[in-house]
Amino acid sequence: MMKTIQYTFIGPIRQAITMANLPLKGALRDEDLEIIQEAGILLKNDKIHQIGSYWDIFPEAQSIGAEMVNLKTDFVAMPGIVDCHTHICFAGSRAQDYAMRNAGKSYLEIAKSGGGIWESVTQTRKASLEKLAQLTAQRANRHLKDGITTIEVKSGYGLSVEEELKMLRAIQLAGESTEGDLIATCLAAHIRPRDFEGNQREYLKKISDELFPILKSENLTNRVDAFIEDTAFSAEDIQNYFEKAKALGFDIVVHADQFHVGGSQVAMDFGAMSADHLEASTEKEIATLANSDTIPVALPGASLGLGVGFTPARKLLDAGASLAIGSDWNPGSAPMGDLLMQASVLGTFQKLSNLEVLAGITFRAAAALGLTDRGSLSSGQLADIILFPTADYREITYQQGRLKPSMVWKRGERV
Ligand SMILES: [Zn+2]
Repeated sequence: MMKTIQYTFIGPIRQAITMANLPLKGALRDEDLEIIQEAGILLKNDKIHQIGSYWDIFPEAQSIGAEMVNLKTDFVAMPGIVDCHTHICFAGSRAQDYAMRNAGKSYLEIAKSGGGIWESVTQTRKASLEKLAQLTAQRANRHLKDGITTIEVKSGYGLSVEEELKMLRAIQLAGESTEGDLIATCLAAHIRPRDFEGNQREYLKKISDELFPILKSENLTNRVDAFIEDTAFSAEDIQNYFEKAKALGFDIVVHADQFHVGGSQVAMDFGAMSADHLEASTEKEIATLANSDTIPVALPGASLGLGVGFTPARKLLDAGASLAIGSDWNPGSAPMGDLLMQASVLGTFQKLSNLEVLAGITFRAAAALGLTDRGSLSSGQLADIILFPTADYREITYQQGRLKPSMVWKRGERV
């Protein structure tokens, strides 16, 4: 039997901002943005079949019997948002950390006194796989409502072979309870767990020897991340770990230069997909990143959560680097999880153009995840489309995240 073909025609849309035909790297001016006025988008199953002027496509849509989604008020369409960095698989809260930070304790002091990541590890280990999956799906569905149709999710609160497996299986299970695409990443190299008897390198060896093969055999993730920082792992500690990961075919990702430099160089040495954080990066790191294929990822939610400076996004773009923007949604430093708000605020502080902000949460974020089938509105791309109730696309960042999409399509299905 032939598979039924479902056509859907959406429009007329006041402005469709396609994000198509734009460079992966470097600064972008709003004038470079392709805006289709009075647009129509014809979907064929889960893909965009055609996008262009509404009245040009209308006759074809009618003749093939497309389901008509007639828009009677003002809308701006853009590609579904991609959040390329989250830690939404967790249990518990870190309100205590927040209070301690505001009382003057530093992130590193809190970590050393037993709070910080270890607190989330304790809570997450107590939760069942099913409970974790449920919490993850709930957060993913909140994101989806905000127009985020692809969500990266890291492990890293298990920190033993069994507990990391529980987290990654929970992320996989959560994927069945949300229409959003969840892209899992193994962050067993978040910190060395306090209950591990051995040093950093012994812990990493155990993880790479015992966990990596299972990740492959169960197809739980093809991405391996590590936190390179004074309180976590040094550039030297991580060498063998990343070498093993690469040999097994994993993509590499690095939490880099958050408080001290060093991580971004590791990211580039291993040809990482992305180097995330970079708040502490200096001119030297910026120049090297600009000359690499590693995508810098700014995490303004962490800057807002910790009360520290933002990633030097303007300098990175001006140097010729790419720039993706992620929420870093996590219970410690970035509990808000509102990516559009955070990206807009980053734009204000770093003097980014509207297009640079929107590129950072669409095709550039997709590229950070190695995905080329989403992030722009053009034929052949996944039909991940969000509609904001406005006639001017600039309202999206201008309203700093308060303007939410009122319609979301994921893989051609209205959610
Ligand atoms: Zn993170």
